Amino acid sequence: MRFAVDFVLPGPMSVPGHRPPAASDAFCLVCQCPLNGVGRRALRTGGPAVCASRECQWVAAQQLRMGELRFSAFISQHRAMLAGRKADAARREARRRAETRFAARQNRRFIAALAHRDPALRDALAVNLPDDPRPLRPVAPERIARYRRHLLDQIAIARQAASAEDSDFIGDRGIIQRQSELDALFASRPDLKADSDALCMTCRGGCCTTGGEHAHLSALSFRLQLDAEPDLSDEILCERYLSRVPAEALEGSCINQTRQGCTLPRELRSLTCNAYYCDELKRFHVARAEPAAGATALAVLRRHDHWHRNDAGPFSRVTAIVRVEGGVATACARRRRDGTTR
Ligand code: SF4
Ligand code: SF4
Ligand SMILES: [Zn+2]
Repeated sequence: MRFAVDFVLPGPMSVPGHRPPAASDAFCLVCQCPLNGVGRRALRTGGPAVCASRECQWVAAQQLRMGELRFSAFISQHRAMLAGRKADAARREARRRAETRFAARQNRRFIAALAHRDPALRDALAVNLPDDPRPLRPVAPERIARYRRHLLDQIAIARQAASAEDSDFIGDRGIIQRQSELDALFASRPDLKADSDALCMTCRGGCCTTGGEHAHLSALSFRLQLDAEPDLSDEILCERYLSRVPAEALEGSCINQTRQGCTLPRELRSLTCNAYYCDELKRFHVARAEPAAGATALAVLRRHDHWHRNDAGPFSRVTAIVRVEGGVATACARRRRDGTTR
């Protein structure tokens, strides 16, 4: 059937989570992105002008159960929501660019000042890291109960699949691929692995605040262990994790996060935890791959939470600078009460 609300021809726009704009003369009736591929094929066969995004497909499908008037109001609301999301993403991106430029200028000054004392620092790579100190809090029994529930639920899902090769895990292939790329990179560059670990320790797991009581553990993490040890019982598998919950964890962070870092050994962490590196660390990996790259990194700690670093407000202040070399982190400069660093 034809859709009552026809597509309009606004300028191209991209909405977070949707395909980027491409050269086209037909536009998705929901997000108003230019149509290509799936959308254009659908149009040719008399289908709705909708792009391949699942969200747009879902919105468009609602016309079948709504009357024309209701659908027209619904789609207008949805467009306004997408426009809001787009504006928010643009604000965050502008803020990110501005802070990146500001931090780069600051870092050049820091490196020049520190190189006066130690000329070896002239070629140091600056890495901006979050510094979001959180108090330690006893891990409440309710948190442990939620974690236990999550572990058992995911183990039960893992048991429904024959192996980690099962098509149930098709959506996880990307992260497995990322993990094997990292393994290959670190096998050839153990120095990079050592320095990456030292940088993550310096930032004290700034990205772990989303770990809550799930620690990003999914069924695949358990299926991999069950494939390697088919006789494992649910209880033993669950206990592997529960026995590592610390008595005190950082407030508002993952249940496994302490001042000394994660209590889970790498082989028990989720694929997400093992494969994730923030953009700063990814940039560091690329910069270090350059033949002329120096062997020293300077971690510039900035007072912000990793996930809110692009929120509106003043630029984050520098709290400390830490030298990272050969996998060892050494304090280099700290913020004084008067706001300068020494
Ligand atoms: S990946 Fe980035 S944000 Fe996460 S712990 Fe490492 S340095 Fe910190
Ligand atoms: S399990 Fe460890 S690495 Fe993963 S989010 Fe929790 S503290 Fe961070
Ligand atoms: Zn769309």
